[in-house]
Amino acid sequence: VIDPKLLEILVCPRCRSSLTGTDELVCSDDSCGLVYPVRDGVPVLLIDGAGQPS
Ligand SMILES: [Zn+2]
Repeated sequence: VIDPKLLEILVCPRCRSSLTGTDELVCSDDSCGLVYPVRDGVPVLLIDGAGQPS
């Protein structure tokens, strides 16, 4: 679970769009759509560690 205030300032490192989600962060840009994992409440915003949308 992520602090909503933290979520507000986070952006996708690839396309700079905002992120949504709780257990994982999903890029809000349809053409990007990377999914970033959250480990112990800390978002892992690494493009290399991101998943593609399923
Ligand atoms: Zn993105």
